[in-house]
Amino acid sequence: MNNKHELPISEETRKFLESKHLLFINGEWIESSSGEIIPVVDPATEEKIAEVQSGTKDDIDLAVRSARNALEAEWSKIPSHDRAQILHRLSDEIEANFSVLSELEVLDNGMPMQLAQYSIASHGVTLLRYFASWAPKIHGKTIPVSPGGVMNGDSLTYTKREPIGVVGAIIPWNSPLIFAILKLAPALAAGCTVVLKPAELTPLTALYFAHLIEKSGIPKGVVNIVTGFGETAGDALAKHEDVDKITFTGSTEVGKKIVSSSVGNLKKVTLELGGKSPVVVFNDADLEKTIPGVARACFFLQGQNCMAGTRVFVHEDIHDELVEGVKNMAEAFQIGHGLIQTNDFGPLISGDQRNRVMKYIKQGISEGATLVCGGHETNEKGFFIEPTIFTDVTADMAIARDEIFGPVLCIEKFNNESLEAIAKRANETTYGLSGSVWTNDIATGHRMAALIDSGQVSINCHAAVDPAIPFGGNKQSGWGREFGEEGLGAYLKTKATTVIY
Ligand code: NAP
Ligand code: MG
Repeated sequence: MNNKHELPISEETRKFLESKHLLFINGEWIESSSGEIIPVVDPATEEKIAEVQSGTKDDIDLAVRSARNALEAEWSKIPSHDRAQILHRLSDEIEANFSVLSELEVLDNGMPMQLAQYSIASHGVTLLRYFASWAPKIHGKTIPVSPGGVMNGDSLTYTKREPIGVVGAIIPWNSPLIFAILKLAPALAAGCTVVLKPAELTPLTALYFAHLIEKSGIPKGVVNIVTGFGETAGDALAKHEDVDKITFTGSTEVGKKIVSSSVGNLKKVTLELGGKSPVVVFNDADLEKTIPGVARACFFLQGQNCMAGTRVFVHEDIHDELVEGVKNMAEAFQIGHGLIQTNDFGPLISGDQRNRVMKYIKQGISEGATLVCGGHETNEKGFFIEPTIFTDVTADMAIARDEIFGPVLCIEKFNNESLEAIAKRANETTYGLSGSVWTNDIATGHRMAALIDSGQVSINCHAAVDPAIPFGGNKQSGWGREFGEEGLGAYLKTKATTVIY
């Protein structure tokens, strides 16, 4: 455990933390009508580092009105090349403010600095530039039919791809800045306007990002950011009659509430929800690559990752060697504050989350799984739990069934079962987000990948994420896809026009 009291924070970050944080509506910084604030805590120290506004239904109303006005006034009419240019300018701003954004992300969420830097550079900036470049490539089609029996040539049918309208974006705390950008980038490229509600536990990078939005030349009201609680601000956004679409990332439980909240005006909804992803390791896998791959698949972001590979199915021939290797990696993590560059394993997001994960660990032990390593809170300040591995796990145990959202890896064995039988076990979950297959036999890899019921399966790697690769869940892991052309399509609606000459 490595925690220092004097943390290396830049002057700019310190100044931002000490400043008064307001709501960003119609290009202005305003106080919430509630007059209430929410404390922001560093999960590695449990200390309060800032205070943000607790947004209300009235604040959401104001923000939605501002987004509607901006949509009608200007944004959807700006030439697409100019829209792209503005989004590239915003990417430049992220690059110019990279170190402050990374520090704030670490302080607010607890992730290790290397991870914050990697994700902001490779996902944040690349993602925004990827979608910026889409703006002038959005177009419809001409369709060679003769509606109503009109002779060919005497009619023309074409489609246009139009912005879906005002978008409400509700995001979780596990990768706060990346999720804010993941929602804003395709929405803005498509010509939509947005009201964003960050997670109450991690609002800081979204608020800093709002200052960059101001500098980038995005017109007032195109992006509005309302901090606050899910049950108040989030609920008001999901129910709002003048919001055309909700894009939500979070738990399956809240995803279902969003669906019921959306029925008032039948707004469109896309959902990126939870997961309990399988990792299938065959006995011909290259263990030198597989062992670190399996460890990262689960312990990345302390397991607070929707794509986490938390259920490993390994051939009995290599079970012991794999377990030993992953255990060695788990025990080698440097646990501590993310701002200390050598630490690569941070805290969980909150005391509640830590208690929830500890409950599952105790339940795993009492249900008969074998605890191989970890399983303890570390006893200094901060919501830390050691990386934890269980073997002899069976499908009926709570640790195998539920999304724990913490550093808990469950390992099961298989022998010479058919691929279909292994897949049946891998698919025995209500989720279907991600998954991976580890083998040197490429045919086995592809066959197994085809049998896993998930939106994304990787072979000899886990959770291959890129702005161009569609990402999303089957079953109760979600509706729709993000990233790539399909992700952009979720912010567009098609209009068909026919002329008869
Ligand atoms: P969560 O509790 O579902 O919260 C997500 C967001 O929804 C937060 O901003 C939350 O506000 C808000 N919210 C809560 N109740 C609401 C309501 N009734 N109406 C509208 N909004 C409401 O999820 P979380 O605990 O933050 O994140 C963990 C979950 O997210 C995990 O299940 C994980 O698998 C999932 N996740 C999925 C993906 C993916 O891409 N598939 C990625 C990351 C995470 P508060 O600020 O009050 O919490
Ligand atoms: Mg925080």
